[in-house]
Amino acid sequence: MSATSNTLLGKLLDMLYPPDVACALCGRETLLGNNRLCDICRASLAPSPALHCPPQLDGIVAAFRYAGAARNGIRALKYQGQARLAPFFADAITIPPEWQIDCVVPVPLHPLKRWLRSYNQSELIAKELCARLRIPQQSSLLRRTRFTKSQTTLSGFERAKNVSQAFSALPAVRGKSILLIDDVTTTHSTLLACAIALRAAGAARVYAASATAATHDSDRESID
Ligand SMILES: [Zn+2]
Repeated sequence: MSATSNTLLGKLLDMLYPPDVACALCGRETLLGNNRLCDICRASLAPSPALHCPPQLDGIVAAFRYAGAARNGIRALKYQGQARLAPFFADAITIPPEWQIDCVVPVPLHPLKRWLRSYNQSELIAKELCARLRIPQQSSLLRRTRFTKSQTTLSGFERAKNVSQAFSALPAVRGKSILLIDDVTTTHSTLLACAIALRAAGAARVYAASATAATHDSDRESID
């Protein structure tokens, strides 16, 4: 049921455009199967392989490989303002039960980029995840203090250098167990820079969950 269906106008719109005939990812109206996905999207979704956890993190998971419909969905959420995709990706993230989390912090955009885009796609996913986990979201605990250039064409080492010291965390993270949320991770350089800033401010544990992971060279085009 759509969020608008409590109102008369919402009910009328649901009758005209039933919400359950549009694919949850691409929006195409067709016969849907499991997870409200069309055949094309379902066939192209691949779960992310287990990710190697770097020492700066206490754990890292991702829902999907950044390819096919997952990649199209992230790009639509990021560049076309399709906020309806945030619940889809939040639902797909499985947090291991042993992770003890005090608060959820999305990877921040630089304030200028946030202003230009008017929203942060990772924050939208984090908000949905918080509602499911009943954990507070505290976006303000971590800030991006430097504008970093696009990571698209950089090597792993250059990415790490590009984003190192680009973040700063508030002292309120001291002793807390933090879950970082990202939309796409490649070499984890951004998540690591966030983790380093959080630990420098005294965070006890830092976990990371990403909606997608670009695990293959072919996945790594058009990421920024
Ligand atoms: Zn679809």
